[in-house]
Amino acid sequence: MLTGKTALVTGSTSGIGLGIAQVLARQGANIVLNGFGDVDAAKAAFAGSKGRIGYHGADMSKASEIEAMMAYAASEFGGTDILVNNAGIQHVASIEDFPADRWDAIIAINLTSAFHTTRLAVPGMKSRGWGRIINIASVHGLVASAQKSAYVAAKHGIIGLTKTVALETATTGITCNAICPGWVLTPLVQKQVDARAAKDGVDDAEAKRRLLAEKQPSLQFTTPEQLGEVALFLCTPAATNMQGMALNIDGGWVAQ
Ligand code: NAD
Repeated sequence: MLTGKTALVTGSTSGIGLGIAQVLARQGANIVLNGFGDVDAAKAAFAGSKGRIGYHGADMSKASEIEAMMAYAASEFGGTDILVNNAGIQHVASIEDFPADRWDAIIAINLTSAFHTTRLAVPGMKSRGWGRIINIASVHGLVASAQKSAYVAAKHGIIGLTKTVALETATTGITCNAICPGWVLTPLVQKQVDARAAKDGVDDAEAKRRLLAEKQPSLQFTTPEQLGEVALFLCTPAATNMQGMALNIDGGWVAQ
């Protein structure tokens, strides 16, 4: 279904980004990977894919490196048809203790990077008359949790960016939507599980149960594969008129 299309997924050496890239690759898309994780292990996850798999190591906190990555996708793959803005980091601290450099890094990586990739991808998408921009926001783009000021601010921001880009591109063949996961068991969340286990003096399984019980009524983690299938749906003709949506996949988190 996506043969001949190129999907660039930021932060795709692990977790959600890797899961989304794998689902898109199974449909024949070329993939441009990005991220700081183990590149060879990430590439190995695409064995047997029909499309080409590329990688660019741009740091999403640096505009010049993002520009180089988008230029790489243009020169090596003919452009970015599906842009998945996924790279993200977390830092947990109360507002009065929040380190200013962590605030700046979270805003840069979780929000500003999507501004740069989007502004650079849209002209090519417009000229080809088709494009999909999928922003991996979070339930924290819709509701807040204590101790996550920078993350909540960035995720609310990316939902605003999603709506604006959707309006600006509404007649061009491009759609822009956000996916808002609840808890997904990735390295980013495992750190919070570890912190919970240490704080409460419980084992890994009990820390996971407590984390889920607080927020996610299904008591199940959402999986990267499930998020990939939703991203794929946004690339189908059925989703052509979905514009500026924030789709939460959160086991009931935001319904409460
Ligand atoms: P993860 O830590 O597994 O993956 C993050 C990816 O981003 C990695 O590939 C990492 O190398 C990359 N990355 C980090 N800093 C980077 C930088 N400066 N430049 C380039 N790449 C960088 O995390 P994840 O849980 O898969 O998170 C992916 C996205 O999903 C994030 O935006 C996160 O906020 C969002 N999200 C995660 C959850 C969850 O429960 N895990 C829930 C909601 C939203």
